[in-house]
Amino acid sequence: MNQDQPRHRAKKSLGQNFLQDQNTCRRIVDAIKPTPEDHIIEIGPGQGALTRFLVDAAPARLTVLEMDDYLAEQLDEEYPILEVVRTDALLFPWDSLNDGPCKIIGNLPYNVGSKLIWDIVSTVKTFDIAVFMVQHEVAKRLTADIDSKAYGGLTAWVKNFTTTKYLFKVPPTVFRPQPKVDSAVVAFVPLPADQWPENPEALSQLIKILFQKRRKQLSTILKQHWSPAMAEWFEKEGVSTKARPENLTPEQFLGLSKLI
Ligand code: SAM
Repeated sequence: MNQDQPRHRAKKSLGQNFLQDQNTCRRIVDAIKPTPEDHIIEIGPGQGALTRFLVDAAPARLTVLEMDDYLAEQLDEEYPILEVVRTDALLFPWDSLNDGPCKIIGNLPYNVGSKLIWDIVSTVKTFDIAVFMVQHEVAKRLTADIDSKAYGGLTAWVKNFTTTKYLFKVPPTVFRPQPKVDSAVVAFVPLPADQWPENPEALSQLIKILFQKRRKQLSTILKQHWSPAMAEWFEKEGVSTKARPENLTPEQFLGLSKLI
């Protein structure tokens, strides 16, 4: 697709910052190592900056989810190989991918990036790898270590389902229109299925309770939920009740969620 097409104006409401730099596009696509056996899902293909590299890899299936009707139609016309789904990716039935392996990729719209990643990593059990470009600050959160400022609810959640890796930073100059902030690319690989939370709802609740008050001590935040079993858990884990949410490992969030 001609990236300078006059009929399409970038929509801010859809986070439309289109990649212009071929080298950056290639690096992002290379990160999922596409093969002819793959089912690849791309979120927000836009004007096809990543899509054309994916098409070149000739995967068995290439599904793209695009919310902008005009762009979806253009892609449909240009690349017959694509299965174009005109949808809000937040409403896509992600569990429908669980019938076979897949790879997921996207330069995500900034306004829904964190929410999409939250849903995808905890719903799709069969992806080999996912690679997403997000705001740099979100990439830092997704890959943060405990005890750091960037470590938050998103980190604790995502790391209970996947291992994450910060791949590289991308400056605003490679987009049109240019965003105000840096971006970065992050890779996700699912943890073995037997390590997945049995009760994700409880984990999600606990993460929300704790990070709503991230500056407070755990004993204060958990006062209403306190029990002898919880006191025993702190003792056994060697965690001070004076610690704060960012001092708990993702595994400790999971352990504690079983007691609430
Ligand atoms: N992949 C293209 C690129 O790298 O140049 C476009 C990336 S642009 C940051 C985000 C794309 O996601 C846009 O094409 C936008 O229309 C689409 N989009 C925005 N919100 C969406 C949503 N909720 N579901 C699906 N697509 C969405």
